[in-house]
Amino acid sequence: MYFYIVLFLYFFVMTRISLFTQTQNLQAIIKNNPNPQKIPQNEKQESTHISHIYQEFIDCIKEHNHHYYNLSDSVISDQEYDELFAYLKKIEEIFPHLISSTSPTQSLQDQLEVQTAFKKAKHIFPMISLENSYSQNDIVEWIERAERGLSKSPHLLKTDLPLNPENRPLSPDKSGQLPSKGSLLASVPHRRGKGKGGLMGEPALSEDRVPAKQGVGSDVQEDKQEVTFLLEPKFDGISIEVIYENGKFVQAITRGDGIQGEDVTENAKTITSIPKTLKNTDTVPGDVLKGKISFRGEILISKTKLNEINQEREAQGLKIYANTRNLASGSMKQLDPNITAQRQLIAYMYEAYGFENTHNLYTLQDFGFNQDLVKLSLFQDQTYTQKDILEKVAYFSDPAQQKLIHDCDIEFDGLVIKIKDAQQRKILGSTAHHPRRAIAYKFPAQQVATQITSVDFQVGRTGIITPVANLQPVQLSGATLSRVSLHNFDFIAEKDIHQNDWVRLQRSGEVIPYIVGVITDRRDTVPQSQTDLPLNLENRPFSPAKRDSSPPRGALKKVCEKPPLGGEGDHEVVEGLILPPTHCPSCKTSLSHEEMHYFCRNPQCPAQLEQRVIWFVSKNAMNIEGIGESIAKILVEQKIVTNIFDIYKLLEPETLFIVRRFPGFAEKKISEIQKQLNKSKNIPLWRLINALGIGGIGKKIAQDIQNYLENLPDYENTWEYIAKQLQDRELVANIYGIGEKIIDNIVDFFQTQAEMLTKITELKFEFTDPPLTRKAVGNKGGNGGIGIPGKPSENFSFSITGTFPISRPQITEKLTSLGYEFHASPKKSTNIMLIGEKAGSKQAKAEELGLEILNTWEQITAKFPALRELEISKENSKKEGPEQRGLF
Ligand SMILES: [Zn+2]
Repeated sequence: MYFYIVLFLYFFVMTRISLFTQTQNLQAIIKNNPNPQKIPQNEKQESTHISHIYQEFIDCIKEHNHHYYNLSDSVISDQEYDELFAYLKKIEEIFPHLISSTSPTQSLQDQLEVQTAFKKAKHIFPMISLENSYSQNDIVEWIERAERGLSKSPHLLKTDLPLNPENRPLSPDKSGQLPSKGSLLASVPHRRGKGKGGLMGEPALSEDRVPAKQGVGSDVQEDKQEVTFLLEPKFDGISIEVIYENGKFVQAITRGDGIQGEDVTENAKTITSIPKTLKNTDTVPGDVLKGKISFRGEILISKTKLNEINQEREAQGLKIYANTRNLASGSMKQLDPNITAQRQLIAYMYEAYGFENTHNLYTLQDFGFNQDLVKLSLFQDQTYTQKDILEKVAYFSDPAQQKLIHDCDIEFDGLVIKIKDAQQRKILGSTAHHPRRAIAYKFPAQQVATQITSVDFQVGRTGIITPVANLQPVQLSGATLSRVSLHNFDFIAEKDIHQNDWVRLQRSGEVIPYIVGVITDRRDTVPQSQTDLPLNLENRPFSPAKRDSSPPRGALKKVCEKPPLGGEGDHEVVEGLILPPTHCPSCKTSLSHEEMHYFCRNPQCPAQLEQRVIWFVSKNAMNIEGIGESIAKILVEQKIVTNIFDIYKLLEPETLFIVRRFPGFAEKKISEIQKQLNKSKNIPLWRLINALGIGGIGKKIAQDIQNYLENLPDYENTWEYIAKQLQDRELVANIYGIGEKIIDNIVDFFQTQAEMLTKITELKFEFTDPPLTRKAVGNKGGNGGIGIPGKPSENFSFSITGTFPISRPQITEKLTSLGYEFHASPKKSTNIMLIGEKAGSKQAKAEELGLEILNTWEQITAKFPALRELEISKENSKKEGPEQRGLF
């Protein structure tokens, strides 16, 4: 009976083109028919026919693939995807006559959009991925399969193993060639192709090495081998193949469809954890490095870097990256490798192909790769038994351990369990889809659904208004969530978020949870009676445990009884719209707006000041611990702080007299804050610059400013000097990498905030020697730290004014990289003055000083041919089209 209800639901939904609904219905079919053979084959009703259902699975999975690969957007969790995929394969096993060449099990290739200017490149071996598992049972089954495979293999008797390393059958042989490529199976990667593993020298994808099943009475003895395991973190990054020829790095290719990907060699060169030359030491003899060796791995980025970049982007009004994976992907696909270099990507390799490593001779560390990204003891080189493995899996699946995982700066979303012994791995080989020697275990997906109860507007330190949704409290990754940022009105429009919507939340790769999407079906499917529906399909974390039980009948019935949807216009609930506020919620000033952002422009706005205090003390600014939101609020409300530097009033007895009356100011706390305040007077300059809260400036730009200032020939390490320089628009415009708007903000700040500048002077900051590394390059190098060409023999200095075919900062950067000394303004000792169009007062000054002047571009490029090259490369890059944006 139940089945027919599902069928009815299924039939009904076929008219409704909603991927989410479609997926839910296929999930219901799976749940009620674990074995597809049992699906009644009712010829009369086409929609219940197996061939029809088969086609539905194909369409649905392809649509998910499209979302995942081309739109970088997952509608369902990986685990749900895998379930659909597995069921499709089951149908094909039972009804092989149905198999369609358009099935995602057959090929992915026609589904990927050509989307970049990167060249395509073929993988040496197809990139296949590890099998995924979600429960201890899956792992036990995998271990049993492996043990069966090993015990029945006649090749496996220990005595057969060639013990002498010289006998290594495939040691990069005479020809230096890789194993015959003809023997490779053209494999179709499983979509969630982010397979992990860490096996060395796996003879890739040669034919199935496990002999056919031995019949009863086989004379091969069942010799149960002891199997032990290693554990690795399972990272969620960008899969990559890195190729070395005779030990030298030659090429890097993204996974793509598994057969061919994009050639990202130039970008990979900027990743310091990909060695340019493989180590050739005692552990890895030279002959191993001969010919081509291919390494498989993941490109990752730290959470710290994600937060840093998002902070900058948010300050500049740019879209932020949703998670580390998107940022790593966006960074790897920049057409300009300089941008990739700035992102400080990290490579983690887990596999090597192209030589034999049967006897556990080499580890990836031996080749010079860093394998120690997650500092948890379980990933140290330990050997585990099956029992140990299951214990670890249980331990990490416990939501209570989520914090431990979250505290790691490199995100990982599961464990990779690998068979330790190289010989055993070799015998097990691979199927067309997965290697048999390892399995990935994914932590239960951290996604939950909840409802928006109201929307608030928060005022940021620059006056920007951010909509924030209050939520029905819900547990995610071991924390209770009751609020989530809606970022801006573009985000709201894009995700089509309304008041009281049900939304799905996720937390991965970043500390802050975010809205994955709205569950639009819940808008009218279940109008007022959500509490009656304990198993509304969305109302639960996507955990396997809850999936196992069938929904109570009542719940499904309710869904079925729902009247059919009217049409597209159904969701235009005008009263449910989230509209931008007209006035600042804090100071009631009316708001102005620029594109998708709204601003409170009142400089005295208390909410802004509170946020400026919080920014001021934050980790990337003054790094003063102990002052949180509640303390900042009290300080502003009590008018103790009317200017961020008033925080230092907490060092004065008369202020303490006042604040002691408030909660949160215990003696111990006060003395801790005072200690921190005193400590903060001795810091690198960039911290103070960042702490000022100038619009568009974050840690990186603050460091660039410090770097630039310190390289001025007459640099003085005093606040007076620094403040004076930063009033000079022309000088600020020379700092590499900052746009007009930020230049305006800086100059404006230093020209108008006299009161604040005086306070800073009075506080007598001492700027310590900074940990900046690019000093030798002069003005900030956009060259990703790649070598400085030969210095000119004479110690030439130059100054510059006006506009040129290429930007002043670029000219300055190029010339200083060539060793010329840069003078921000012309002086007697300046050798050459470069004058462009619309030159400023510096021209007159240079003439007055009688300096050598070059005032046409021809003269300038004749003197400095390197600038002509810059111009040409600029023209070329224009032809290549705009910079490719990251995937959001
Ligand atoms: Zn305001």
